[in-house]
Amino acid sequence: MGGLLSPFRRVVVKIGSALLVEGRTGVLKRAWMESIADDVARLAAGGADVLIVSSGAIAMGRGVLGLPAGRLKLEESQAAAAVGQIALARVWSEVLGARGLTAGQVLLTLGDTEERRRYLNARATVGTLLKMKAVPVINENDTVATTEIRYGDNDRLGARVAAMMGADLLVLLSDIDGLYTAPPAQDPAARHIPVVDRITPEVEAMAGAAGSELSRGGMKTKIEAGKMATVAGVAMIIASGKVDRPLSVVDAGGIHTLFKAEANPVTARKAWIAGHLEPRGALTVDAGAVRALNQGRSLLPAGVTRVEGRFGRGDAVRVLDPSGLEVARGLVAYDADVAERIRGRSSGEIETLLDIAGRTEMIHRDDLVLKGEAG
Ligand code: GLU
Repeated sequence: MGGLLSPFRRVVVKIGSALLVEGRTGVLKRAWMESIADDVARLAAGGADVLIVSSGAIAMGRGVLGLPAGRLKLEESQAAAAVGQIALARVWSEVLGARGLTAGQVLLTLGDTEERRRYLNARATVGTLLKMKAVPVINENDTVATTEIRYGDNDRLGARVAAMMGADLLVLLSDIDGLYTAPPAQDPAARHIPVVDRITPEVEAMAGAAGSELSRGGMKTKIEAGKMATVAGVAMIIASGKVDRPLSVVDAGGIHTLFKAEANPVTARKAWIAGHLEPRGALTVDAGAVRALNQGRSLLPAGVTRVEGRFGRGDAVRVLDPSGLEVARGLVAYDADVAERIRGRSSGEIETLLDIAGRTEMIHRDDLVLKGEAG
């Protein structure tokens, strides 16, 4: 993309059900999916990582199963999702594949982004797909999600994924071309807002409540998504997907609303690590490791001299210097017993010991906050 979207290096595109599924028939709008796949291929060719958050599983499945109009019971929507998701994923795989892109299906439940351990696991998987130049096609795992444990709408799921993956842009494509001063269906005088610098209570008041019949989200959940994205350093665009190649249209300056990112993702994320998690243990490190940390490097097992506490992978731990002073906090990559086994060891030894290849950091620098650095 040579225009507005060209600065963005990692883009999450959330696509609403109404764009993907033909009314109540359960038939996918394949021609449109081809056109968005063209856009995705164009973004990818420009060097950006692209992630698709695709709705449509329930809408499609209910059509195929001939379920009645109106609200579905939980078990009905779970069944509909099972039927819809398998076909949805196949078509994504086909339309992306036809453009030389490999699709990888990722189904998430709420806990995968809210619990640190599972968050790290989901992030590593999606990160690996991106490293391999595959396009993650993500949806909520509606077949097993129940009311208490689901995001419920893909606007917020998209925002969580964008924040989790350190994306710089989230695009919400639906039947709405942006934020208006009031819901346009109810107020003919409503004006379109091209740029939102900050989501203030006034901005929130502009969003009505309801979504369309097919999708769960309305402007309200989009603003919620905007809050989650922008505080994490992700800009958000709301644009209409009711055209062919909607990303190219936005890129060329077509109508949309841009919500500017508030901070850079590292800062927001580090503030979160520093401020919001109870440390479950402590790692004492040697002087060399303290120096490495101060130079912005990861904490390697070799520099760890003592492991305390009963933590699990993904828990927050304190990092102590040889005199016992806290120098950092971070999310540890191993359970306490494994950390104890590998402390003081070199990466090579650990690969043999644990029979793993690749990453052996005790705390990756992205998951580490130096004392006084944030929050
Ligand atoms: N995950 C739902 C589905 O695929 C869509 C949720 C939404 O509409 O936001 O059917």
